[in-house]
Amino acid sequence: MLSVTFLGTSASRPTVERNVPGLAVVREGETFLVDCGEGTQRQMMRYGVSFALNEIFFTHFHADHFLGVIGLVRTFGLQGRTDPLHLYGPKGAKKMLGQALTLGIDHLPFPVEIHEVKPGDEIDRAGSREQYVLRAFGTEHGAPSVGYALAEHERRGRFDPEKARAARIPEGPLWGKLTKGETITTDDGRKFTPADFVGPNRPGRLLVITGDTRPCASVVDAAQGADLLIHEATFGEEEKERAKDTKHSTALEAAQVALAAKAKRLVLVHLSARYSVAPEELLTEAKSVFPETAVARDGLAVDVPFAD
Ligand SMILES: [Zn+2]
Ligand SMILES: [Zn+2]
Repeated sequence: MLSVTFLGTSASRPTVERNVPGLAVVREGETFLVDCGEGTQRQMMRYGVSFALNEIFFTHFHADHFLGVIGLVRTFGLQGRTDPLHLYGPKGAKKMLGQALTLGIDHLPFPVEIHEVKPGDEIDRAGSREQYVLRAFGTEHGAPSVGYALAEHERRGRFDPEKARAARIPEGPLWGKLTKGETITTDDGRKFTPADFVGPNRPGRLLVITGDTRPCASVVDAAQGADLLIHEATFGEEEKERAKDTKHSTALEAAQVALAAKAKRLVLVHLSARYSVAPEELLTEAKSVFPETAVARDGLAVDVPFAD
């Protein structure tokens, strides 16, 4: 299973309806966060996100995206956590997070390791990620910033039981071996290779999270064929000049990126407070270019299924 839960969908400051940015990604029982705005830990409780996580990925260090880490780390300490916590972010991560974690926290019973990442980095911890890669990619936000792409490895092709039966291969362990790509020999001495019974490899899923950014080529590249693109859409078209000045995107611009990347689905986040209650305007503008668009709200959980 691969799913995301939106913990905060407002830009810059919280509103009654929406908290500042935070996103939980859950993949096969593993949870991590992307950004951690003020109040994220309470949003995690509200929306049932596990505190058993070892990694937080920061897109950049504007206050709305990281101040929540102070309270969350303190809570981890109160819970008696001993496992190390890994924090990732672009240039400046060591300074910003290092300073933040001295505020109001006397002693932590667990280690916190801060890692600076740059566009193109594949983020791994001693082979902890076997079934996918997590890659940082470049974004344009004026300050050092990155987005994150979770790209699963290809999966084995589908096993065809009809073909196996036709070849009189007895159902059971031999089928399992063929499925795993092994050549087999039946009891009566016949040899079979998996290529005859297993279809071509199937693509894994691609989840792409931009963080704050202008629409840009590096995001289009990172999001090629994405099953789900989560793109910021701070403003509507009537404020497109403001979007440019503040290095954000409009909903329409986010949709154009999704279209150029041939993404399958787009979810808009990071809404300016004026769209907090009524985001329909953003949705309509984006859908005019990219129909498979939704606007996130706090607590929204989105599954990312396999394409086949
Ligand atoms: Zn922001
Ligand atoms: Zn920002």
